[in-house]
Amino acid sequence: MAAVTPMMAQYLEIKAAHPDALLFYRMGDFYEMFFDDAVAAAEALDIALTKRGKHEDQDIPMCGVPVHAAEGYLLTLIRKGFRVAVGEQLESPAEAKKRGSKSVVKRDVVRLVTPGTLTEDALLEARRHNFLAAFAVLRDEAALAWADISTGAFHVMPLSLARLGPELARLAPAELLVSDGTVSQFEDTVSDMGVPVTPLSRASFDSSGGEARLCDLFGVSTLDAFGSFTRPEVSAMGALIDYLDITQKGKLPLLQPPLRDRAERNVQIDAATRRNLELTHALSGGRAGSLLSVIDRTLTPGGARLLETRLSSPSRDLEVIQSRLSALDLLIEDPLLREDLRAVLRKTPDIDRALSRLSLDRGGPRDLTAVRAALEHGARIAERAADSGLLAEALTALTGFSALSQQLDAALVAEPPLLVRDGGFIAEGFHAELDEARTLRDEGRGVIASMQQEYISETGINSLKIKHNNVLGYFIETTATHAQKMLSAPLSDKFIHRQTTANQVRFTTVQLSEMETKILNAGARALEIEKRLFEELRRAVLDQAPRLHQAARALAETDLAAGLADLAAGEGWTKPRVDDSRAFEITAGRHPVVEASLRRDGAPFVANDCTLTARDGAAIHLLTGPNMAGKSTYLRQNALIALLAQMGSYVPADSAHIGCVSQIFSRVGAADDLARGRSTFMVEMVETAAILNQADNAALVILDEIGRGTATYDGLSIAWATLEHLHAQNACRALFATHYHELTQLAGKLEGVENATVAVKEWEGEVIFLHEVRQGAADRSYGVQVAQLAGLPASVVERARTVLEALEQGDREGEARPKALIDDLPLFAAAPPPAPKRPDPSPLADMLKDIHPDDLTPKAALELVYRLKDAA
Ligand code: ADP
Repeated sequence: MAAVTPMMAQYLEIKAAHPDALLFYRMGDFYEMFFDDAVAAAEALDIALTKRGKHEDQDIPMCGVPVHAAEGYLLTLIRKGFRVAVGEQLESPAEAKKRGSKSVVKRDVVRLVTPGTLTEDALLEARRHNFLAAFAVLRDEAALAWADISTGAFHVMPLSLARLGPELARLAPAELLVSDGTVSQFEDTVSDMGVPVTPLSRASFDSSGGEARLCDLFGVSTLDAFGSFTRPEVSAMGALIDYLDITQKGKLPLLQPPLRDRAERNVQIDAATRRNLELTHALSGGRAGSLLSVIDRTLTPGGARLLETRLSSPSRDLEVIQSRLSALDLLIEDPLLREDLRAVLRKTPDIDRALSRLSLDRGGPRDLTAVRAALEHGARIAERAADSGLLAEALTALTGFSALSQQLDAALVAEPPLLVRDGGFIAEGFHAELDEARTLRDEGRGVIASMQQEYISETGINSLKIKHNNVLGYFIETTATHAQKMLSAPLSDKFIHRQTTANQVRFTTVQLSEMETKILNAGARALEIEKRLFEELRRAVLDQAPRLHQAARALAETDLAAGLADLAAGEGWTKPRVDDSRAFEITAGRHPVVEASLRRDGAPFVANDCTLTARDGAAIHLLTGPNMAGKSTYLRQNALIALLAQMGSYVPADSAHIGCVSQIFSRVGAADDLARGRSTFMVEMVETAAILNQADNAALVILDEIGRGTATYDGLSIAWATLEHLHAQNACRALFATHYHELTQLAGKLEGVENATVAVKEWEGEVIFLHEVRQGAADRSYGVQVAQLAGLPASVVERARTVLEALEQGDREGEARPKALIDDLPLFAAAPPPAPKRPDPSPLADMLKDIHPDDLTPKAALELVYRLKDAA
C-alpha cells in the first residue's frame, strides 16, 4: 500500500473529527474537498469533479471552490441540507517551513456552518429571523429555547410536547437541536414541520452543565438575575449555547439575556391554520400572496423582522395591544411626522447584524460605519419625535450615544473598504503615528515616481520605466534593444540586472530597493496601526452592546409603527376596539390580499359585515352559497381582521369590535395532502379533531366545507355532529361554511346558530356573483351553473341539469335516489350524440346548382338575377 502523504494524513485526521459535515480544506486560494465530500459537493454545486493523487491505490476524487467566492457556494450547500466544516490554514507556508522542511501547514476547522448558525449577510435573508432552536424533554416536562445569533435575540418557554408543532410553525426555525435519547418521541411532529434536526449528545442537554454555561456566557453567578427557569428550560438553553460553542469553535456570539415567552400570552395558531390563512407564506409556498407581503411597508430589516414576529404571534394582552395601537394613532394623524421618520429610517442600517458579526470577529470596517450611521439616524429620529410623545420609552433608547458616535465619526472615513486587511478605513488626522506612516509610504511612492525621470536623463533611454509587481516589487524596465547599454560600464555599476523576459530586461538599484523597503515598512506599519485601531473601535462598540441592542429594538419599533400607520392611512383602515368581551362585530370588512389582487385587475372588492357576538354560549354562523360566491374569502377575512387587531394593527374595515380572541383555528375540507402520505379525508378529520379537543370559549373557529372529503351522508353527518359539538362543548365563535343545505335547519334549533348566505343573482340561466353576505340560507347551490361558467361541455351541463332535476324530484317524492336515477333516466353513454344539422335543400339552391358562371353572357346573368329574385 502506498504511504499516505503528510497532507492527506492531516486531511483524514480533521475529516475524522467532522464526519457529518463537508470539509472545506483550505489550500492557498481554494477550499478543496476530497473523497465522498468531493463527489457530493460537485454534484450539489454543479462544478467539475477531478482527481488528485492516490489513496490506497485508488484515485482521490477532488473538487474545489475559490475562497473569494466561497459564500455563494456555502449558501447553496446549506440550502441543500449540508453542513460545512471550514478548515483554514493556521500559519503561512513560510512558518511551516521553519518548523522543518517536510512540515505541512497547520490547519484546523475554525467554524462549522449550519443552517441555524449563519451570520453573513450573503447567507441570510435580511428581512427574516434565522432561528436556532433547542427542545429539551425531562420526564414529563419540556421546554423550547431559540436564538437568532445574527441579531442576538434569545428566548425560552416551557412547552408541552403537544404544543411543539404549533410553536415550530410560529418560529419556523432553521435548525432544531434535540437530545439523542429523546428524538424518537417527537420525530413525527418535527418531520411534519420540515425543520432540519441536529441530534446532540445527552451531555449537551445536561441541565447543571447548561446552567454553568449560561452563567459563564452572561458573566453572572446565578441565573436568577434573568428570572426563574425550569430545568427543561435551562437544559434547552444550555444545549443551544453548547452547540454554538461547538460550531463557532469557542467564539460565542453576542446573545441578549434570555427572555421568557409564555404561550398563553399569544393567540394560539397551529400549523394548519397558519398555512390556511397564508400569514407569512402563500399556499403556493412563496411569500407573494401572503398577508405579510401585503401589509409590509417597513423600511429597515429590523422593522421587517419585527413585523413577521408580531404577525406570527398576535397578543392576548389587552394592555400590549392598546399601547401598540395608540402608537399608530399619532403617526396616522400626522403624516408629516410619519414621512420625516420614514425618510430617515430608509437610510438606517441593520445594527443587530453588524453587532453579531463584530462579536464573532467576522466584522469589517463597514459594520462599524453601519453602527455609526444607525446611531446618527437614531438621534435624528428621537429628536424629530421628541415633542410628540410618540413611543416615548423606545425613543430614549436612541439617545445617549454621543460619545460613541463621535468616536466612530472621528475615526472612520465616509466609505470604508469591506475588509480590515485592505486598510484605508481610518480617517486622516485621527491618529498621528498612522498619519506619519502613511505619509512616509506615500512620499516614498512620490520619490519613486521622480526617480524614473532621473534615470531617464542619466541613461538617455526615454522609454525607461519604473514598474511594480508582486514578485519583484519595484523594478526598472527597458526594452531588450536598450538593455545592452545598461549592462555595460559605467551604467552597469549602478543598475543591477534582475530578470530578462522575451522583450524586456529588468533592473534595480540600491537606491530603489532602499526606497521600496521604506515604503513596505511604512505600509505594513500603517496597516498594523489600522488593525489595532479597528480592534479598539470594535471593543468600544461591543462594550455598549446591550444598549445598542435596545436602540436597534427602538428603531425596529419605530419603523414597524410608521409602516403600519402608512398602511392604515393609505388603505383607509380603522382602529379596532379590542376588549375582554365576546364581541365580534365587523362592519364593511375586507380581505386585504384578495382586495389587493382584485385591484390589480381593476375589480372592486365587496365589503361585508360580520356580527358574531356571543353572549353566554356559542355564536356560530352557518354560511351557504354556491362555489365561487366568496365564502372562503369571507371566512378568512374575519380571522385576519381579528389577527391584525391583536398584533396591534389597524384593520381593513369601517369598524371592528373584537372581544379578545385566545385561539384561531382555520380548516379547509379535504385539501390534498398526498405528499405527506395520509388520505385527504384523514388529514381533514385529524385537524377537525384538534379543534374540537382544543378550542376554548374565547376561540375563533373557521371551518370551510368540513366533511367534503367523504361520501355525502358520511360528510353531512360529520359536519352536523361537528357543529353540535362546537355549539355545546366549545361554545366559541365560529364561521362554518358548508354546502350541506340540510344543516341550515339547525339554525332554528340551536341558540346562537344563525344562517348566512353569499348572495347570487340568476339571470337567463346563468349566475352572477354579488359577493354579498346576507342573513338566511341559500336556496340552492347553483353548482351546475358554476360548472357551465367553468366551460364544461354543453352536453355535460345539460345532462347534469336532467340528473339534478330527477334527484330533486326523487327527494320530494321520497324515493331512493340511485334507484330513481337508474330506472328513470336513459343512460348518458347510450344517448347518441345529435348528428350535425344540415340545411334543407331550397329551390334557390337547386337553381344555382346547375349554373356555370363562366358560361354566362352578361345578358344571361342579368336574366338569372331576375329569375332568382322571383323564386325567392
Ligand atoms: P367560495 O369559497 O365560495 O368558493 P371564494 O371565497 O374562493 O369562493 O371566492 C371566489 C372568488 O370570488 C375569489 O377568488 C375572488 O376573486 C372573488 N371574491 C370573493 N369574495 C369577494 C368579494 N367580497 N368581493 C369581490 N370579489 C370577491
